[in-house]
Amino acid sequence: MPLIPSLRFYDIERVDFIEGITLARYTIDEAETAKLPAGFISCWRKYPTDYQMEGQCDGCERVHRPRNTRCSMTIGRPSPFTEPRLYSFERRVALRDNYEVVDLSTERHRVLEKVVLRRNAANAQGYVRAESFGESI
Ligand SMILES: [Zn+2]
Repeated sequence: MPLIPSLRFYDIERVDFIEGITLARYTIDEAETAKLPAGFISCWRKYPTDYQMEGQCDGCERVHRPRNTRCSMTIGRPSPFTEPRLYSFERRVALRDNYEVVDLSTERHRVLEKVVLRRNAANAQGYVRAESFGESI
C-alpha cells in the first residue's frame, strides 16, 4: 500500500526532528511507525522555503514567526544545525544515532513528503547496524 500523506501542511502542529544544513522538518507519524519493524520511523517531511533558508529559520514549525526567539532567523545568526544529521527540534541537540531515509513517497510534488527513516546505531565493533530506537529519541 503506498504511503499517502494524510496530513496537510497546515495540519502540522508539532515538529520532532530538524535536519542539519537543509533545515528540513520531520514530524513522526505515530500510527504508521507502529506498523513498522523496530528501528524504523515514518515521518512527514517539509523543506523550508527559500525565504526561510536565507534567514536560517530553524525554530518555527511551519512559517517563520518573527517573535519566536528560539529561531535563528529571529536572532539574526546562522543556524547551529550544521551537520548532516537529525537534531531534536524541541531540545535543539543532535540525536544520538544516525538516521537515513530508506523510503520516500513518490508524490514528491506534495509540500509534505512522506519518508521512512531507519536508525543506524554504531556498535562497539565500530560498524553500523539498524536497531530499535526505543526511548533514545
Ligand atoms: Zn523561524
